[in-house]
Amino acid sequence: SAKEAGRNTFRFYTQGMNAEAMRRLEMETGLRRALARDELLLHYQPLLNLATGRIGDVEALLRWRGKDGGLISPGEFIPLAEETGLIVPIGEWVLHSACDQARRWRQDGLEVRVAVNLSGRQFSDRHLVETVRRALTESGLPPRLLKLEITESAVMRNAEEAVRILEELKALGLEISLDDFGTGYSSLAYLRRFPIDQLKIDLSFVQEITRHPDGAAIVRGIIGLAQSLRLQTVAEGVETVAQRDFLKDSGCDLVQGFLLSRPLPPQELAALLRREPG
Ligand code: C2E
Ligand code: MG
Ligand code: MG
Ligand code: MG
Repeated sequence: SAKEAGRNTFRFYTQGMNAEAMRRLEMETGLRRALARDELLLHYQPLLNLATGRIGDVEALLRWRGKDGGLISPGEFIPLAEETGLIVPIGEWVLHSACDQARRWRQDGLEVRVAVNLSGRQFSDRHLVETVRRALTESGLPPRLLKLEITESAVMRNAEEAVRILEELKALGLEISLDDFGTGYSSLAYLRRFPIDQLKIDLSFVQEITRHPDGAAIVRGIIGLAQSLRLQTVAEGVETVAQRDFLKDSGCDLVQGFLLSRPLPPQELAALLRREPG
C-alpha cells in the first residue's frame, strides 16, 4: 500500500530521524526478528469461577523475551505491532500456540478453556474468521474450549460490521468476551445485538470498588446490565479479598487477578491446576 511504501522510504532518511523514530524502528526490526526466531511466548492467567470455586478458564498473555533474557510486556510493543500491521502474523502465532497448548493440557487431563486477545487491527482483518477456523482444526481443540477477547472499543469502531464478524466467529462454536468493558463508548442497542457471551469489567473499575462508593456502584451497574442481557461477567485485576468478596456478593461470575495468580508459564499453570481440589 501507499502507506507501507511511505514507511519504507522513510527508512532512508536517517539523517532527519529523531531519537523516538530510531527507537521505534529498532523495536519494529526486533519484533520481526522475535516472530521469526521464536522469541515470543505466552503466559497464562487463571480465571476463578466464583460459583464452583474451580478454574475453568485461562487467559493467554503475550510476552517477548528480549536480548537480555528479560520479558517485555505487551503494553510496550502491541501498539507498535498494531501500527505496523505486524500484529496480524503475531496474532496468528498466538492463536495457534494457545490452541495447541490447550489441546495438550486436555490430553493430559486438564481441561480448561483458553482466552486469546484480539486487537482492533486483527478484528478488522478480513482473514480473521479463516485464521481462527484454521487454528482450531490444526490444533484439534474443541471450539468450545476457545474464547476470543475483543475490546469494546474495537467492536464499536464499526459496530454494524462487528455484528457480522462476531456472528461468523460464533458460528465456529467458540466463546466471545468483550474486554476492557466500560472504558469505551458502548451503544446499548448494539450491546444487545452482539452475539457475545461475556462482559469483562476493566480493572480500572475493579480497583475503584473499595476506594470510592461510586466505584462500587458502577461495578454493580455493569453486573446488573450484563445479567439483564444474559451475559456472564468477569472482573479483571482483582487484587484484594475485599474486592473479591464484593464481586461475589454482587453476582459476578468469574474473577481474575493477582489475588488468585499472576500470569504463569505453561508448566507452572499446569501445576496450579493439578493442585486444585478434585
Ligand atoms: P487485557 O487483555 O485487559 O489483560 C489484562 C492485563 O492485566 C494483563 O496485562 C494482566 O497481566 C494484567 N493483570 C492481571 N491481573 C492483574 C492484577 O491483579 N492487577 C494488575 N494491575 N494487572 C493485572 P498484560 O499481560 O501486560 O497485557 C496487557 C494488554 O496487552 C492486555 O490487556 C491485552 O489488551 C494486550 N495483550 C496481551 N496479550 C495479547 C495478545 O496475545 N494479542 C493482543 N492483540 N493483545 C494482547
Ligand atoms: Mg484480555
Ligand atoms: Mg481486559
Ligand atoms: Mg484491560
